[in-house]
Amino acid sequence: MQGERHLEPQKCSVPLAVEVVSLLRQFGSVVALSGVSLEIRKGEFFSLLGPSGCGKTTLLRVIAGLDLPDGGLIRISGRDAAEIPAHRRPVNTVFQSYALFPHLTVSDNIAFGLRMKKIAAAEIVDRVQRVLALMQITELATRKPAQLSGGQKQRVALARALVNEPEVLLLDEPLGALDLQLRRQLQVELHQLQRKLGITFIMVTHDQEEALVMSDRIAVMNGGKIEQLGSAREIYERPRTRFVAQFIGQCNLFKADVRPANNGDILARTELGEFSVSNVSKDPTRPGSFMAIRPEKIQLLGGATCGMKNSFAARIEGFTYCGAETRYRLLAGQQTVNVVVMNREASAVFQPGETVQCLLPAEHLILLDA
Ligand code: ATP
Repeated sequence: MQGERHLEPQKCSVPLAVEVVSLLRQFGSVVALSGVSLEIRKGEFFSLLGPSGCGKTTLLRVIAGLDLPDGGLIRISGRDAAEIPAHRRPVNTVFQSYALFPHLTVSDNIAFGLRMKKIAAAEIVDRVQRVLALMQITELATRKPAQLSGGQKQRVALARALVNEPEVLLLDEPLGALDLQLRRQLQVELHQLQRKLGITFIMVTHDQEEALVMSDRIAVMNGGKIEQLGSAREIYERPRTRFVAQFIGQCNLFKADVRPANNGDILARTELGEFSVSNVSKDPTRPGSFMAIRPEKIQLLGGATCGMKNSFAARIEGFTYCGAETRYRLLAGQQTVNVVVMNREASAVFQPGETVQCLLPAEHLILLDA
């Protein structure tokens, strides 16, 4: 897998902010990180995505120097992190809990780290004012954390990290405590902020939409390992494992016997018939034993359309109207199939009990390992 290769820094032309090589971390019998390797480029918005307990926070903490690995190594801007104590690493962390000092004002919270570093008073004032303006919280400068909303606390926590001008900003579920609307707004703001500052952001999240919306690249983690590393589009459109296919969005899976076809495509034989699969990047002599397709890639066709290539008949079991789209649940043989259709008409096109054809375009079919 891409994220688990041994990566040498000189092979990559883009300057690297953080390199993680064969990282191990174990807590008693729990293996939190099991040989994780990845490269994070300078100026990149990188997300660690995965379910609870997969090791994302542990990886972030080890990069920050808040925890020590049991094996492997980390380089930050090319330097072995083992030689840099946590407080000297060019990284800052924003925690989900914000971790603001309750007795200090917003300004003093932001200035705290600079005072600890014995920066000159005039420079502290200047830097605090700049970061207050950047985060659009100048009017909150004299308030205490208890007098702030969740979104405002989040901005202060970010300001407190950014005032140190880190090379790398580590964000641990930074928007996790906020309601959905505010989270969506701050996702956009945080993304724009990262672009403006050019700082490398490494964000931990279990929210797949958040990762897809904000990140240049995503590492999907599972059980202390990286299952797949790639852009949002690659991860969604071309998942490599069943775990990734099912963790990121919805996916229909069909058990399949797979063999090469004469035209260069792959043929997948399933209980619902044989399907032609194009765009197969993996070695067809090691075919996967599942065929997969996203619900919105399936086309539903009414009327006398049976016998079409790459299609099967299915009965509409039910549907949910979701405003912009309708989600249909269908049954084909023993298999439940989920299909999402954009609502171009005001009413649902198909009704429960109706038999329709499901067309699975060859270019949208994916082969996955068992
Ligand atoms: P979440 O999204 O719930 O925060 P996570 O992916 O960030 O999960 P980690 O916090 O990295 O997961 O934990 C990975 C595994 O290591 C879990 O099984 C967890 O219980 C275990 N773990 C983490 N820290 C410790 C610790 N200090 N002592 C013992 N076990 C730990």
